Amino acid sequence: MAEADIIDGRAFAAELCGRIADAVSEMKSDHGLTPGLAVVLVGEDPASEVYVRNKNKATVKAGMNGFEHVLPMDTEQEELLALIGTLNGDDAVHGILVQLPLPDQIDEQAVIDAISPDKDADGFHVVNTGRLATGGDPMVPCTPLGCLMMLKDRMGDLSGKEAVIIGRSNIVGKPMAHLLLDANCTVTICHSRTADLPEVCRRADILVAAVGRAEMVRGDWVKPGAIVIDVGINRVPKPGEEGKTRLVGDVAFAEAKAVAGAITPVPGGVGPMTIACLLANTVTAACRQHGIAPPEF
Ligand code: NDP
Repeated sequence: MAEADIIDGRAFAAELCGRIADAVSEMKSDHGLTPGLAVVLVGEDPASEVYVRNKNKATVKAGMNGFEHVLPMDTEQEELLALIGTLNGDDAVHGILVQLPLPDQIDEQAVIDAISPDKDADGFHVVNTGRLATGGDPMVPCTPLGCLMMLKDRMGDLSGKEAVIIGRSNIVGKPMAHLLLDANCTVTICHSRTADLPEVCRRADILVAAVGRAEMVRGDWVKPGAIVIDVGINRVPKPGEEGKTRLVGDVAFAEAKAVAGAITPVPGGVGPMTIACLLANTVTAACRQHGIAPPEF
């Protein structure tokens, strides 16, 4: 059997960002509206600093306003909540993202709860998770939204497909399940207590791995021809190069590639789509806040 196609998340994200930039330029000319995204970082975690910088760069490149707020590590919860209150009331800000994780003195849930649901660019607020679960117009979490876009691009109509998701987190697994259910898939959600995980995975036409365990999903867990979406980002030692590391996903890529119909690589698969979807969410939020029909991305 032929090897799987590689789903190029970087190329897909670049194309999506182009369409977002076009939509932004139309919003400016037709409505005098420039979407704005505020990103808040607390502390000096190097990985988070890189994420925030990349998010801001992408925002500005798409023609939107990017507002970056970097607070010191010892910031008190009240201070952060006050900033969120200000951003909630700022008409130039249509999307707000607080980079997680937050330092120990801050209750993450209280921060998520404080963001106006209409400006919740990450889609983590309980109002948005509720809307996603029950119908309505939610802000959809960026990572699963990106996965869904890649799946639809690849497969078209997803109706009737067997979808298996490994992972039940609030930010990936659960929203992914709701999105696939809405797309008329038959959805199974797996987790650490799932009995005979490989056998369940072998049923999947669509297999989404969001676990955080390097190369856990083996080639013989994959149904021939299945579409494999690898959300995992795991840093592992580089063989033969002491002290160096490399990124791998939750799927044993070479093994799965020999069996699957298509597969996302790590890096260069789901990751780039997450940032692009953050921008798409900000455009959607700005449109909704101004009574404009949001573009279909
Ligand atoms: P969480 O740690 O919140 O959730 C992991 C899930 O995997 C849990 O539901 C857990 O089950 C399940 N799990 C753990 N071990 C096993 C096992 N042995 N068998 C079956 N299921 C298992 O992780 P996230 O959802 O936040 O992230 C998952 C991965 O995706 C991480 O590698 C993360 O870095 C990456 N990620 C990538 C993003 C991107 O942009 N590409 C964005 C967000 C995350 P249980 O609930 O029973 O504990």
